[in-house]
Amino acid sequence: MDRGHFLTLSAATGFITMTTLQNKSPQKMPVLFVGHGSPMNALANTNFTKHLTALGESIPRPKKILMISAHWMTKGVQLQSQATPKTIYDFYGFPEPLYQIKYPAPGDISLAETVTKDLHTYQAELDHEWGFDHGTWSVLHHMYPKADIPVVQLSLNQNFMNLRDHYKMAAELKKLRDNGILIIGSGNIVHNLRQITRETNAPTMDWAKDFDELIKTAIINNDQKQFLAEDATIHSLWKMAHPSIEHYLPLLYILGAADFNEKIMFPYDAFENGSLAMRSVLIGA
Ligand code: ZN
Repeated sequence: MDRGHFLTLSAATGFITMTTLQNKSPQKMPVLFVGHGSPMNALANTNFTKHLTALGESIPRPKKILMISAHWMTKGVQLQSQATPKTIYDFYGFPEPLYQIKYPAPGDISLAETVTKDLHTYQAELDHEWGFDHGTWSVLHHMYPKADIPVVQLSLNQNFMNLRDHYKMAAELKKLRDNGILIIGSGNIVHNLRQITRETNAPTMDWAKDFDELIKTAIINNDQKQFLAEDATIHSLWKMAHPSIEHYLPLLYILGAADFNEKIMFPYDAFENGSLAMRSVLIGA
């Protein structure tokens, strides 16, 4: 039985607690969703980045990582299949030091091939072009700074009709967890760039808190109607939280690859820039 210490940081209260984690089985990996926010978080040293570092130290060391980033959408399902993926700077106008960061983790062609087979009801294809986008490296730079764990990205299929399609496909990834593979989704539970304020620590807007709380409660209660946006009465709140849906979708891969009876934790729950939810979700640790 693995035991590890887990550091919980709450920026709202500044309160830090240490709890002990227990894994049901040494083999089975948890699943993790993290907010990533601005690419500048890669250079930051804040409660948010400290929580990423603590996650990297507390989760049992994975053999490999399957990463689902908000920043890779494709027509159809793609698996990054490269021995040495390049670091992609998929943003403009940021300070030069951000463009100096490299995340030289190896890729893993055999994992990419395994996942295409595991997704047996889907026509997943191997991709030989995509590198690590900032949804991946701005997070892993803090979690696994040595970049010594192989990483494969799985794309978001923009041909899927609705959120349930993503959630259903993720169920076919469950068995990876028994083979030491950590599945990480990287996005944001609230992400509306037209509604962010300049100041990182600005007070959080009420609608953003409401949506974040709604999703948190839906995750705890396995309320699929809510977390799959099937409740038409709150359509306008969804549109406010996600004018486009790509930053929400990675969460569905984590929920879909989890079982309802697993332990759910929220290692971080603060906001940045007035509305950007940085909440992380750890299931099965
Ligand atoms: Zn992003």
